[in-house]
Amino acid sequence: MAVSNCAPRASPSYLAGKLLKSLPMSPLGVRCVQLQSVFEVALSVDSLAGPGAAALRRLYAFTAGTARCRVGPELSRKYGMEPDNAQLVVSITNKATLEQAWYNEVRTRKPQTFKADAAGLVDPTDGGRMCDFCNWRTLTAEDTWGRIERPHAVTGSNLFKYGEPAHGLVLFKHHNPLSFSREQLKDFLAVSADWFTAAAVVHPDACHPFFIWNCGPRAGASQFHGHGQLMLTALPVPAQARLTQQSELHAQAHPGTSLYHDMVQAHAAVGLARALGQGEDRCWILAHLAPQKDMEVVLLGSSLTSPVFVAALHASLRALVDSLGVQTFNCGILNVPLKQPQLLQQPAGGVESCPAANGLPREARLDDSQGLMLAFSKGMGSDEDVLRLLPSGMEWRPLMARVVSRGKTTSPASDFGCLEVIGHASIGHTDPFLLIQRIDDQLASVQL
Ligand SMILES: [Zn+2]
Repeated sequence: MAVSNCAPRASPSYLAGKLLKSLPMSPLGVRCVQLQSVFEVALSVDSLAGPGAAALRRLYAFTAGTARCRVGPELSRKYGMEPDNAQLVVSITNKATLEQAWYNEVRTRKPQTFKADAAGLVDPTDGGRMCDFCNWRTLTAEDTWGRIERPHAVTGSNLFKYGEPAHGLVLFKHHNPLSFSREQLKDFLAVSADWFTAAAVVHPDACHPFFIWNCGPRAGASQFHGHGQLMLTALPVPAQARLTQQSELHAQAHPGTSLYHDMVQAHAAVGLARALGQGEDRCWILAHLAPQKDMEVVLLGSSLTSPVFVAALHASLRALVDSLGVQTFNCGILNVPLKQPQLLQQPAGGVESCPAANGLPREARLDDSQGLMLAFSKGMGSDEDVLRLLPSGMEWRPLMARVVSRGKTTSPASDFGCLEVIGHASIGHTDPFLLIQRIDDQLASVQL
């Protein structure tokens, strides 16, 4: 299905002054206009130049237009809307994946007529005293080969499975699902990595891992306690199958680049990409232009146990929870690397016998993040130097984490309506330029 770039049909005066200035070129070859909103990106995309802008136009299609209506006096007074009403609506579509988001600043004023208790995320377990997962030793199942355990996290087996042959749980050892340190998240991801490795030994025909983290009932969680789910199946979930297919097609259609390469380049070109690095390891953080749901952050890393991936995911989640008021979110991870089962030893069961994941010594995997470097925003060389570090071509298959807010817990209205469920599009409530600012605030406190 072809998606064409449409020339902007509206140029509100408040944007035009900024966009028409003649500005010098950045190392990326993109005009150094300080873009500040997705609306500015959509209205200026055709005038941007350079390799970053080429990737932006190669991967994303933009439309910008005015939608009009007439508003009567009573309605105008009630909602503060102009009688002769014109609203700028922008769409952004990923041409490879067809992911699509629609933005309209006016929607931030949309009333919500359904009312709910303002208590937010409610703990039904009396602060953990009635929590199954706080009592994980007796009130969670374990896999036939045992559990993986670290100081801050432990695995179990899902008691009500929808995946086979392996469907596990990963639990923080503390109760509050919104309060987790980087150290706790590191253990949460490390036991998950070891679970995938152990499950692959027992089920060598299952080679499709998927990491699922639902926080809060609105996001699909059935328990308050912070936890995720781990699937290892012979059949990939559709998102994984599509990602594999689309990345291959994109690389074939555009030799010399890749879907992931273009995603980083496109977001870097408009100021929506950041990177963390340590040695050869990298994690790219993108405030997604075409989010699946509100405030989507896409992270491209190397493994669940990479210190820079852990630091980047922690900074992104803390930005959502601490700075943007998110109390319910989904975090899914695709392209999880899986060690070849034939290279592994059969575990005898239990914690100590599980092989280390990803082939790295335990000490290396658990190393702290000293020496982390920030890029795009803080000196790790020029943007051009940083982008040169991107692996290119079809060989690069980065771990891809996707984090989305699931809306206001105080609103009973679902954030998934027909547009999302049937139309497979989404509404961009929060501008990704605001999101990247909040992530920057978190990255500023990452210890170097
Ligand atoms: Zn608990």
